[in-house]
Amino acid sequence: MPDPNGFLRYERQLPARRPVAVRITDWREVYPPAGAELIREQATRCMDCGIPFCHDGCPLGNRIPDWNDLVRTGNWDAAVESLHATNNFPEFTGRLCPAPCEAACVLGLGGQQPVTIKQVEVEIADAAVARGGLNPHPVPASTGRSVAVVGSGPAGLAAAQQLARAGHAVTVYERDDAIGGLLRYGIPDFKLEKQHIDRRVAQLAAEGVQFRTGVNIGVDVTAEELRGRHDAVLLACGALQGRDTPETPGRPLRGVHQAMTHLVAANRVVAAAGDGRPAPAVLPDGTPIDAAGRHVVIIGGGDTAADCLGVAHRQGAAGVHQLDLYPEPPHGRDAERDPWPTWPWVLRNYPAHEEGGDRVFAVAVQEFVDDGTGQVKGVRIAEVTVERRDGRRVVTALPGSERELPADLVLLAIGFEGTEEQPLLAQFGVTRNARGAVDARPDWQTDADGVFVAGDMHRGASLIVWAIAEGRAAAAAIHSYLGGIGSLPAPVDPARQPLAAR
Ligand SMILES: Cc1cc2nc3c(=O)[nH]c(=O)nc-3n(C[C@H](O)[C@H](O)[C@H](O)COP(=O)(O)OP(=O)(O)OC[C@H]3O[C@@H](n4cnc5c(N)ncnc54)[C@H](O)[C@@H]3O)c2cc1C
Ligand code: SF4
Repeated sequence: MPDPNGFLRYERQLPARRPVAVRITDWREVYPPAGAELIREQATRCMDCGIPFCHDGCPLGNRIPDWNDLVRTGNWDAAVESLHATNNFPEFTGRLCPAPCEAACVLGLGGQQPVTIKQVEVEIADAAVARGGLNPHPVPASTGRSVAVVGSGPAGLAAAQQLARAGHAVTVYERDDAIGGLLRYGIPDFKLEKQHIDRRVAQLAAEGVQFRTGVNIGVDVTAEELRGRHDAVLLACGALQGRDTPETPGRPLRGVHQAMTHLVAANRVVAAAGDGRPAPAVLPDGTPIDAAGRHVVIIGGGDTAADCLGVAHRQGAAGVHQLDLYPEPPHGRDAERDPWPTWPWVLRNYPAHEEGGDRVFAVAVQEFVDDGTGQVKGVRIAEVTVERRDGRRVVTALPGSERELPADLVLLAIGFEGTEEQPLLAQFGVTRNARGAVDARPDWQTDADGVFVAGDMHRGASLIVWAIAEGRAAAAAIHSYLGGIGSLPAPVDPARQPLAAR
C-alpha cells in the first residue's frame, strides 16, 4: 500500500533546468535527467486516493498511482511495464504533455501542489531505454490482413504499433523525408531530441512495421491504388493548415511568415548539422529565415509561439516580442471559472520565457510596416479588448493606444485551421467539416467505408497525448473491422472531450 504520509513529508519539486546561459548556446533538451532519489520522493507523494481523478485527466487512462508506487518501492521493471500497458510512447508525453493529469490530481485541490506525474513518467520512460526495455515485441503477421497508415505523427505511429502487435501487416506512408510528424520538424530539439523518435522507429521496424518516406498519398500514390494494396486505411495526416491574417495591411511584406515555416527550417538545420550546434536556417528556396541579429515579433500565445521564442533565442535574435490578443491570464486557478479537476486557464510560462523576450498581452496588430523596399521593418499594434457577442469574437482597439515595435522577422503562430485541403481527401471521398477536421463515426470510420481517421486530422490541432489515445482507439476499431481475434484497448471514443465542468 502507498505511503499515506508521503505528501506531508515531501514538497513538490522538479529537477533544475540547465542554466539559461548554457542552454541557449545549443539545441539540447532543457531538462537534465532527475536524480533517482528525487523521483522516488516525488512518486512517494502520490497517496493513491480512492478515486484517482488523474486517470480521467489523462486521455490515455495512464495507471498513474500504480506506477508511482512501483517507483516508490524501486520496482522499475514493473513500472516500465505498467506505463507501457497504456502508452506506446511515454518518452514523448513525459517530455511534452501539458499534463492535464496534474490539474486533476487530488493533491492539487485548493491550490496545493499536485504530484509531478509527468516527471515520474519521463523518468520511467528513460529507465526503459537504460534497461533495454525498448526491445521489440515482434508478432508474425499472422492475420493475413494489411493496413496502410497515412501520416507518421504520434497518432499514426501508435496505431501502427498496436496493429502490428496484433498480427496485421502495417505500412506507414509519410510524405516528409523522415518519420515523426510534428515531433520531427515542428517541435524543436530543445523540447524533444530526435534520438527518442529514432529509437521508436527502430522498435516498430523490428516489430514488422514497414516505413515509406517521401510518399505523398493522393499525389505519388492514389487513394485507389492504396485501397487496392491494403484491407484498411488509417488517415492520420494532422491539422497543419496554419491560420493566417490576410486582411492585415502589409501581410505580403518580406519577413512575415507562418511560424511553421520558421520552425521547420530551423529544425531541418539542426537535423542536418547533427552535432547540436546552432546554424543559420533557410527556406527550401534558399532564402534565409534566421533570427540572428534581428528584431523578432511572434504573434500568438501557445506552444508554437513558445517554440519560435526558444528558436529565436538560440539563433541570436537582437530582441523578441511575443504578442497575445488576450489579457494576461491569472497566475493560479480561478475556481469559479475552471473548478478542479478541469484544465484551468492560467498563465503558462514555458522554459523559453525564462530565456528572454517580452510578452505583451491584450494587443492586436493593426499593420505590418514597410521599410520602403517591401521588407517589414515594424508592426503597429493597438491595445484591445476581446468580447464574445452572439458566439462571435469581437476585438475592439482602444483609441490612442497605438504604437510601433521594431520587427525584421514576424512569425504568425495564431493557430491552425484543421487538416490541409489536399488531393487525398477527394480521392477517398472524405470532406473537411466546419472546423477543417474530418469526422469519424463511432467506430472511427470516415464517410468512406474501410477508411479510418485519428489524431489532429480528426480532433483539430490538439496534443500528443490525444493523438496517441486516438491512434490506439482507431487501431482497436480497425482490428475489429478486419475480424481480428479478441479486442485491443480503446482509451477514447471519437466524441470524447477533455474533463469539463457541466
Ligand atoms: C510547433 C508545435 C509545438 C507543439 N508542441 C506540443 C507540445 O509541447 N505538447 C503537445 O502535447 N503537443 C504539442 N503540439 C501538438 C502536437 O504536435 C500534435 O497534436 C501531434 O503531433 C498530432 O499528431 P498527429 O499524428 O495527429 O499528426 P502530425 O504529428 O501532424 O503528423 C501528421 C503527418 O502526416 C503527414 N501527412 C499529411 N498528409 C500526408 C499525405 N498525403 N501523405 C503522406 N503523409 C502525409 C504529415 O507530413 C505529418 O508528418 C505542438 C504542435 C506544434 C505545431
Ligand atoms: S500522458 Fe500527459 S496526462 Fe497522461 S499521465 Fe502523462 S503527463 Fe499526465
